[in-house]
Amino acid sequence: MVEEVAQQPSRNHLPARAQVVIVGGGVIGASVAYHLTGLGWSDVLLLEQGTLSCGTTWHAAGLVGPLRASESGTRLVQYSAELYASLEAETGLAAGYRNVGGLIVARTEDRMVQLRRTAANAVAYDLPCELVSPERARELWPPMRVDDLLGALWLPGDGKVDPADLTQSLARGARMRGARVVERVRVTGFGVADGRVTGVRTDRGDVEAEVVVNCAGQWAKALGDLVGATIPLHSAEHFYVVTDAVPGTHPDLPIMRDPDGWTYFKEETGGLVVGGFEPQAKPWRSPDDLPYPFEFQLLDEDWEHFSVLMEQALLRVPGLEETGIRKLYNGPESFTPDNQFLLGEAPGLRGFFVGAGFNSVGIASAGGAGRALAEWIVAGAPQEDLVAVDVRRFAPFHGDHTWLRSRVSEVLGLHYALPWPNRELESGRPQRTSPLHDRLAAAGALFGTRMGWERPNVFAPALEYTWGKPSWLPASAAEQRATRTDVAVFDQTSFSKYAVSGAAALTALQWVCAADVDVPVGRCVYTPFLNERGTYEADLTVTRTGADSFLLVSSSATTVRDLDWLARHGVPARDVTEEYAVLGVMGPRSRALLSSLSPDDWSEEGFPFATSREVGVAGVPVRATRMTYVGELGWELLVPVADAGAVYDAVHAGGAADAGYYAIESLRLEKGYRAFGRELTPDYGPVEAGLVFATDLTGAKDFLGRAALAAHRDALAGGGPRRRLVSLVVSSPEPMLWGGELLLRDGAPAGQVTSAAWGETVGACVGLGYLRHAAPVTSAWLAGGRFEVDVAGERYAVRCSLRAPLG
Ligand SMILES: Cc1cc2nc3c(=O)[nH]c(=O)nc-3n(C[C@H](O)[C@H](O)[C@H](O)COP(=O)(O)OP(=O)(O)OC[C@H]3O[C@@H](n4cnc5c(N)ncnc54)[C@H](O)[C@@H]3O)c2cc1C
Repeated sequence: MVEEVAQQPSRNHLPARAQVVIVGGGVIGASVAYHLTGLGWSDVLLLEQGTLSCGTTWHAAGLVGPLRASESGTRLVQYSAELYASLEAETGLAAGYRNVGGLIVARTEDRMVQLRRTAANAVAYDLPCELVSPERARELWPPMRVDDLLGALWLPGDGKVDPADLTQSLARGARMRGARVVERVRVTGFGVADGRVTGVRTDRGDVEAEVVVNCAGQWAKALGDLVGATIPLHSAEHFYVVTDAVPGTHPDLPIMRDPDGWTYFKEETGGLVVGGFEPQAKPWRSPDDLPYPFEFQLLDEDWEHFSVLMEQALLRVPGLEETGIRKLYNGPESFTPDNQFLLGEAPGLRGFFVGAGFNSVGIASAGGAGRALAEWIVAGAPQEDLVAVDVRRFAPFHGDHTWLRSRVSEVLGLHYALPWPNRELESGRPQRTSPLHDRLAAAGALFGTRMGWERPNVFAPALEYTWGKPSWLPASAAEQRATRTDVAVFDQTSFSKYAVSGAAALTALQWVCAADVDVPVGRCVYTPFLNERGTYEADLTVTRTGADSFLLVSSSATTVRDLDWLARHGVPARDVTEEYAVLGVMGPRSRALLSSLSPDDWSEEGFPFATSREVGVAGVPVRATRMTYVGELGWELLVPVADAGAVYDAVHAGGAADAGYYAIESLRLEKGYRAFGRELTPDYGPVEAGLVFATDLTGAKDFLGRAALAAHRDALAGGGPRRRLVSLVVSSPEPMLWGGELLLRDGAPAGQVTSAAWGETVGACVGLGYLRHAAPVTSAWLAGGRFEVDVAGERYAVRCSLRAPLG
C-alpha cells in the first residue's frame, strides 16, 4: 500500500498523455494493464467510468475451466489458472482462486460420445482428465442424483476464482509496475489522425495516447462505432441463483456441469450457485441504448425465464426442492456472433485495440487473453494463432444491431449444446446470397454460412447432425463421384477476391507473397502470405491479369484480415468479392463441356494448368482460371454477377452435377490440399506444412518471412523437436472422422487430426494431421510405426504418410 501511494500521489489525477490508454476497468482491462506492464510498458493509464469491476465482472460466477475446443484456447485458460493461483504471492492481494476440479456429466449417449472425444483431446493437449462412472461422479459430488446418468468426465484442473478480487489483484500488480488506474472517468470519444488513434476524449478532458485498448465490455460496441471499428457484440441477460445451505457441500466441492440440463453448479458459502445456458436466450438492450451510470447493478429478476434452468437443476439435485433461494442474479453479458471473443487491432485504425465480447467466459479467459493482447500490442502483431478470436474475422455488416440481437439469442445456448460436427448457426440468416441462390435452393441445396454468405454444403433431402455417418453422406459421396469421374459445378461465389493494380503493385506483392508472382500475364501462382515469424497469415492464388494488375483469390472467411494485411504492407488492393460469382466446373469431362459452350481453346496446350484468361461461355464474357481445389481437371469461372444465372444454366444443362462444400472438403483431403485456419495457421510455417515448394525460398527474391522460413528449414536439417503435417487414411471404412481426433503411434499420443472427411474414392475417412516427434518426421519413421486414431474412445488403425492418398 505504501509503495502505491508513493508511486501515485493522487490516484484521481488524470494525466494529459500516456503511451497506452485502456478503456474499462473490468477483469479484461485490468489483465491487459497487468500484462503490458509485465512486458515493460509502464506508461499505462486505465480509465474506468465507475469503479473497478463494477460492470459485468463483479457478479460473475467465477468458473475457470481450462479444457476448450482448441489447443490454443486450452493453453490460454491454462495460463489464466496458473496466474490466478500465483497472484497473491506477487501482489499481496488474493484472487480467491481454488483448484477444486470439475465434473461434466452425461445423460445421453451422444453426450457420452462428446465426453469421450473431449477426453482424447485432453490427452492430445497433455491435460489431466478421466472418464468416470456415475457412481464415482457421485462420490466426487455427493448432492447429485446419478441414476439417469451414463457417465462423467473428471477434470482435476478446473477451478474457481473471485472475479472482483481477481480484478483488484491484477490492477494492483499493474500499479506496482507503474500503471495508473483512474476511476470515475468516462471516455466519450477518440482522437484520430491519418488512420491512427491519437488519444481519448473524456468527461474530464483529453488524454493523448499512442495506443488505445477498448476493454469496455458491453459498451465496447458503441465506443467502436464512434471511430468506425466494428466490434460485433450484444448483451444478453445471464442468470444464476445462490441457494441456502445444501447438505454435502464444502468450499472444495468441485464445479459440476450438467450440459444436457443446460446447468452448472458450484459451492458458495455453504450453498450452491446454480446457473446455466438456456437454449433460447433473452437479449438485453441494444449496444447504443445502454444505461449510464450502470455500476454494480443487476437486471430485473425473471423467474419465468429462469424456470427452464431451475427445473433441470431440481432434477439433478433433488435436495434443492427443500432449499431456499438467497438471491437471483441477472446480469448483462456480451455475446458475439460466433461465441468467440474479440481480440486485436481494428482494421483500418492503427493503434486501436479491442478486448471484449467474452461470451460468459471472460473470467476464465482474462489471464490468457490479457497476455495475448499485451504481446500483440508490444510486438505490433499477434505472437500465436489467434485467428479464431481475431476481431478481423468480422466485417462491418456484422455490426448491425438488429442482426446481432437475433444472433445472440442463439449463441448463449451454444455453450452447453452438443457441439455437432459441421454445426451451422440458424439465426440471422440469410445475410449474403450468391446470384445462384434460388436456383441452388430449388435444386435441393442445404446451405451453410461463411462470412455471411449462404453456401451449398450438400444437395440432399435433409441435414442431420450426428457423430457417426450422417444421412446426407450418400448424397455427398455421389457429388464426389461426379467430380472424380464426370463433371460437377460448385458455387464458390463466396471466395474473397481482391484487385491489385498500379505501378507499385508488383513490388508490393513480391514482398508480401512468399512465392514469385512476377510471372507472365495470364499465369496463376499459389502462394502464402507469411509473417515475420515465417508462419501463415493467408493462403491464396495470385493471377497476373496485366503488366500492373493482379487478381487475388482467397478464403471466404478471411476478407477483412487479408485486406488489412495488404493495406499494412502497402499493397493497393480493392475488394471485388461482390462483383463476381464464381462457378467451379470440375471433373474429367469439364473440358468437353466447356468446349461445347465456348468458341475458345480449352485444350491442354491452349489452356494449360495455372493459367487464366478471358473467354466466352454461353455467350457471356468470363475469366476462366485453370485451378483446382478438388484435384481434377477443371476451371474456376469468374462471372459478372448479372450473368451468373445464364452461365450456371448452360453448364447445368450440359450435364454438370450440383455439388457442395462437404464434397470439396472430402475431395481436397484425398488430394492432401491444406486449408487456411486448419492446417495453415499462424502457429505453423511451410516447413511443417510440407509446402516449402510453394514459396520462393530457393529463388533470389526477398519476401516477408523469408529469414524465419530459412531458419525453420535449417533447424529441420539440424535436428530438434518436430511437427509435421501428414495425410492419413483410416484402414476401416466403419468409423466417421470429423477432425480433432487424437493420433497415436505405437500406443502413445503423437498428434491430432486437423481436418477429416469421408473420401468416397478412397472408400474410407481421410484427413490431415500434425504429428510431433523429437526427430524429423520422415517416411521411414512413419513406415516404422503403428498408427491409430482415437474415435470417441475406439482406436482404429490409420495409415499416415507424407503423400496424400490420391496425391
Ligand atoms: C451471471 C454471469 C455469470 C458469469 N459467470 C462466469 C464464469 O463463471 N466464468 C467466466 O469466465 N465468466 C463468467 N461470466 C462472464 C464474465 O463476467 C465476463 O465475461 C467478464 O466479466 C467480462 O469482463 P470485461 O472486462 O470485458 O467487462 P466488464 O466487467 O463489464 O468491464 C468493462 C468496464 O468498462 C467500463 N466502461 C464502459 N464504458 C466506459 C467508458 N466509456 N469509459 C470508461 N469506462 C467504461 C465499465 O464501467 C466496466 O467496468 C459471467 C457473466 C455473468 C453475467
